[in-house]
Amino acid sequence: MPVRDDAKDARDDGRYADALVVLRNVDKHFGALHVLRSIDLTVGRGEVVVVIGPSGGGKSTLCRAINRLETVDSGEILIDGRPLPAEGRELAALRADVGMVFQSFNLFAHKTVLENVTLGQVKVRKKDKRAAERRARELLDRVGVASQADKYPAQLSGGQQQRVAIARALAMEPKVMLFDEPTSALDPEMINEVLEVMQQLAREGMTMVVVTHEMGFARSAAHRVVFMADGRIVEETTPDQFFSNPRSDRAKDFLSKIL
Ligand code: ADP
Ligand code: MG
Repeated sequence: MPVRDDAKDARDDGRYADALVVLRNVDKHFGALHVLRSIDLTVGRGEVVVVIGPSGGGKSTLCRAINRLETVDSGEILIDGRPLPAEGRELAALRADVGMVFQSFNLFAHKTVLENVTLGQVKVRKKDKRAAERRARELLDRVGVASQADKYPAQLSGGQQQRVAIARALAMEPKVMLFDEPTSALDPEMINEVLEVMQQLAREGMTMVVVTHEMGFARSAAHRVVFMADGRIVEETTPDQFFSNPRSDRAKDFLSKIL
């Protein structure tokens, strides 16, 4: 059984009745490989959950399942009380509700920065183009790249591209933001500019699931740390508890290697 503390009790006694993301008993295989094993995870509104763990443990698959970029074999995933839609317009709306920022920046290479942040608003959220552009410029300003609006992604640094990716996701007015190692592909001097944008979002009360090895971010922004290994949630606790007194051998071993 996974080691857990009050996080689990909080769920059981209904304090998470207002949960935004719920996974119940989720399983996923890739062929013979069992990548998600009986995953139970609840993310409350406004909560910041940092997911940590060794490579290959299933962290990306977990994020992709929440955004339905992967289907799961069994179990239940609810976003704001509703099961993930299978396809069509509902799926596009779900993807907008669940913003995702990947390790690789994933911007549209042949669109300008402004177009990257405008397109989804018009296509999925059905905003008119002028309003969408206005909103895009506000968001680009907020993430500190307003002056890059008319450039193409390849003309930007990695840190700038990742901030545009965040602005693009925010433009959809998501209910929750998923970040899958958003700073792992960045040169060291660009990591902080992206983490600062994420810190700011956390302070503003955005619900966030963040896969990262940035322990400073986890310590200062996370309400909860989820440690995942071999497809399981092994430990789920506060950042203080996790970093000062991890309980599972798997987490102790992991921390001894990265800290
Ligand atoms: P993490 O993000 O924690 O490193 P992943 O979720 O990417 O872990 O991967 C979990 C396991 O699933 C790994 O063994 C990985 O090789 C495997 N895997 C991930 N995606 C696929 C896929 N599309 N097809 C087959 N195996 C996959
Ligand atoms: Mg990964």
